[in-house]
Amino acid sequence: MIAKVIVDIESSALDKIFDYNIPSDMTLTKGDRVLVPFGKKNIQGYVVGVEETTDYDASKIKDIVSKLDAQPLLTENNLRLCFFMQQKFFLRAIDIIKLCVPPYVLNGKQKDTTYVRLSDLEDLKITSAKQLEIVSFLQEVGEADKTSILSKFSQSAYKTLLDKGALVLRQEKTYRAPNNAFKVAKKEIVLNPEQQHAVDTICKYKYNTFLLHGVTGSGKTEVYINVIKNALKQGKGAIMLVPEISLTPQMSARFKNAFGDTVAILHSSLKPGERFDEWNRLKNGEAKIAIGARSCIFAPIKNLGVIVIDEEHDGSYYAESNPRFHTHEVARYLAYLNNCPLILGSATPSIESFYRVKTGEYSLITLANRANQRELPNIEIVDMLGEVGKGNTNIFSYRLLSELEQCVADKKQAMIFINRRGFSSFLMCRECGYVPKCEDCDVSLVYHKEDNMLKCHYCQKRYRVPYKCPKCGSPSLRYGAVGTERIVEELKKMFNVPIFRLDNDTTKSRDSYVDILTQFNNTSPAILVGTQMIAKGHDFNNVTLVGIVDADISLHFSDYRAVERTFQLITQVAGRAGRSDKEGKVVLQTYYPKHFAYRCACNYDYNAFFKREIKLREISHFPPFVDMIRVLVVGGDEKKAQQVLQDIFEKLKVLRDKYPSDFVYLAPMKCPKKRLQGNFRFQILMRIQKKNEQDILPKLHEICRNIKPNQVSIFIENDPQNLS
Ligand code: ADP
Ligand code: ZN
Ligand code: ZN
Repeated sequence: MIAKVIVDIESSALDKIFDYNIPSDMTLTKGDRVLVPFGKKNIQGYVVGVEETTDYDASKIKDIVSKLDAQPLLTENNLRLCFFMQQKFFLRAIDIIKLCVPPYVLNGKQKDTTYVRLSDLEDLKITSAKQLEIVSFLQEVGEADKTSILSKFSQSAYKTLLDKGALVLRQEKTYRAPNNAFKVAKKEIVLNPEQQHAVDTICKYKYNTFLLHGVTGSGKTEVYINVIKNALKQGKGAIMLVPEISLTPQMSARFKNAFGDTVAILHSSLKPGERFDEWNRLKNGEAKIAIGARSCIFAPIKNLGVIVIDEEHDGSYYAESNPRFHTHEVARYLAYLNNCPLILGSATPSIESFYRVKTGEYSLITLANRANQRELPNIEIVDMLGEVGKGNTNIFSYRLLSELEQCVADKKQAMIFINRRGFSSFLMCRECGYVPKCEDCDVSLVYHKEDNMLKCHYCQKRYRVPYKCPKCGSPSLRYGAVGTERIVEELKKMFNVPIFRLDNDTTKSRDSYVDILTQFNNTSPAILVGTQMIAKGHDFNNVTLVGIVDADISLHFSDYRAVERTFQLITQVAGRAGRSDKEGKVVLQTYYPKHFAYRCACNYDYNAFFKREIKLREISHFPPFVDMIRVLVVGGDEKKAQQVLQDIFEKLKVLRDKYPSDFVYLAPMKCPKKRLQGNFRFQILMRIQKKNEQDILPKLHEICRNIKPNQVSIFIENDPQNLS
């Protein structure tokens, strides 16, 4: 018998399936991890197929060395996704396999706990008081785990008792439970008619994609929970995806309440051992629901009954480093394979997803009202130019300050949102305008006051703050726009209440994120200052005020999604206020008070926003009307990378001349970030008429496959979130 094997080498040239002979005393199935001879070494590989014969010269086929695990590591779903993604996203099979079998699975170990009790030894002679302590303790409790005995009592006494045969040991498999410090009260919830209708509609279907458009606080999560309950009833499992970091503590607490140990959490903030255990609980079927960020879509669940992508508009569903993929597409294929529904939920669906409702690809389900029957919070726009006119050059408008005072006096909570982290975003010379940049990445450095350092947010490199301008020598350096740290500092001067900060800097350690949220949740009055991280999903009962300090920041990004992102952010942040029985209020500070994104956000008018935005996209030939494709070429050697880019571009020009009407745009360029982590980056951007994507994309893949670059990597991205 012949095994078809993908070897564990990250090389495009070796991205093939190799044939190996299965020794007669070995049984292999698809998904098994094996050791195979390769060159002069033995390396690890994965069996993707088993066949009777091969066309290959039988005398040249080598034997599989060994099978590495008792059970196949890859599921049938994993293997099929692998081939789908390889085609769809121009990826190497091994990179996808590694998403399915992450390092914490391969390197992890099962944990056993040893329990100790007394044996029924009759002529036990106790020779010391220390031994007696242990014996009396065990007589009292019956059985105790070894670690606790050793921490309480004498180690040598324990050892003597063990040697005498006085103790019996028992091993038990134990699971390392993820941090459950974040608790939410269990509520008995009766679905309202809108929610019930949503659940009934979804459960009627097998394979179908639903866009669940529900205003913030409309009870989308309860809909997910009930659809998943229905899947469990049929003996099936579920995958529930949430954006990168923001939702998990609360969301997982709610799911634990609803499903107990049937839920497994796969999240990067867990310790590797915990992730290993959670993954294995899914693999062996003890847990049937996987919750996690985008790579959780590869969770080893056999029989899927539903897939949920919560906050579907979130940018983190596009993987932006190798392997680059779009989670929605993977989820759709997985739903198709399992003949089950896919739910995309959001209060602010992405323009692309909502457009797919219009074209009939997705079915729309709307939750128009908040579950608590409260109005959505009133959003008040403050014109910051007007503030300057009034003589207020502060970060905070008079309006926001007075609302904050009221909120604190009422012993409620406030959230202050700023779209940026660090003390101030950058350092700038007042004389010549010089802004320090990272040597490797060509992006502005960010000033961090805590350690008085400039940092690159792309490669984490740190720089000393210069005393004078390195370019013109002027000592007059000023700090650019405001960040979270500065806001906290200003608030502390004015308010004598606990102030918490939530951003990438304060949540570096594994538990700090949960800690901050838990503390804030338990403190009133209090103020939470944060970045995007506070925008999503949180359900704090006592928040009555949300302040958006500088709404315009994301409006200025040079990206066709900038306006959409701004609208989404504002709606999401505003949705944090007034979620329980208290009314909420939002103060939005801007220099562009008339911008349509703000006006639509104020009226919670998603449809008006969509109408306006989709028209702009159509006129200007942007997605979803065209496919925006980027070919990214990255390499340590600038010349080599540039040459590869040039080769691809020449071939693309030929293609364009052949199909001129398919190309809206085609241009090679340096990336806005010319260097990242020491690598030079070049890109070709193109926009292709949607209807012809099927013709052009495979041809593009073929061109890139035939280039066979040396020490240069080629990536093809369809509709990347980030063109930096
Ligand atoms: P969303 O996910 O749409 O933002 P959530 O599911 O978080 O909304 O619900 C918002 C709040 O309303 C939560 O506190 C939730 O417990 C509550 N809630 C949801 N559905 C109901 C219901 N049918 N009856 C009462 N409370 C509900
Ligand atoms: Zn850098
Ligand atoms: Zn200068």
